[in-house]
Amino acid sequence: MLENHWIAITCPKCQYTEYVRMISMKLQETVICHNCKANIKLIDQTASIYLAFQEVNNTLNSFKDIFKRS
Ligand SMILES: [Zn+2]
Repeated sequence: MLENHWIAITCPKCQYTEYVRMISMKLQETVICHNCKANIKLIDQTASIYLAFQEVNNTLNSFKDIFKRS
């Protein structure tokens, strides 16, 4: 399930990278930055999430390539 994928978000205050699950995003949870302790509302992270999501897709495509080769 895509909801169990971990995705990277960037803290808007300190640019620290946090990892959250897709399901947390869907529920619009608030996470606390491990670096600066700021509250990060996941609803505000759309742009970063989109980028992270692209990375997930690229990773999946890489796996497909590996399978094709073998
Ligand atoms: Zn932070």
